[in-house]
Amino acid sequence: MSNATPNSARPLGLGIKRGLKHRCPNCGEGELFSSYLKVQPECAACGHDLSQYRADDGPAYLTILLVGHLLIAPAFFFPFMWEVTPWIIVPASLSILTAVVLLLLPRIKGGFLGLLWANRVTKDQLA
Ligand SMILES: [Zn+2]
Repeated sequence: MSNATPNSARPLGLGIKRGLKHRCPNCGEGELFSSYLKVQPECAACGHDLSQYRADDGPAYLTILLVGHLLIAPAFFFPFMWEVTPWIIVPASLSILTAVVLLLLPRIKGGFLGLLWANRVTKDQLA
């Protein structure tokens, strides 16, 4: 309750930072997710209605965009990617990429929800 942001001020950086840490963007204390990607209906700490923010495909799109541009594309500049047999490089690359995506996706979803919170983008506006 003490860290709850006043309704008038919703700094973008603060919302994203709290979301990246899996915390309620409104207070920074309550858990944002009840499971891997499932958002709590409301914050246990401040009671903020978290179900009003719908991330939809945004976090998945952003994750693919980041992984594709920061990992996959640069990987092709390393000669071993072309020299090692595909029977080794493909499963190894896919394992690493899967692990990175699974680690990034909930963090990016949290940050995305923080972005929605800061800009007051609720599901009522999207209908
Ligand atoms: Zn909260």
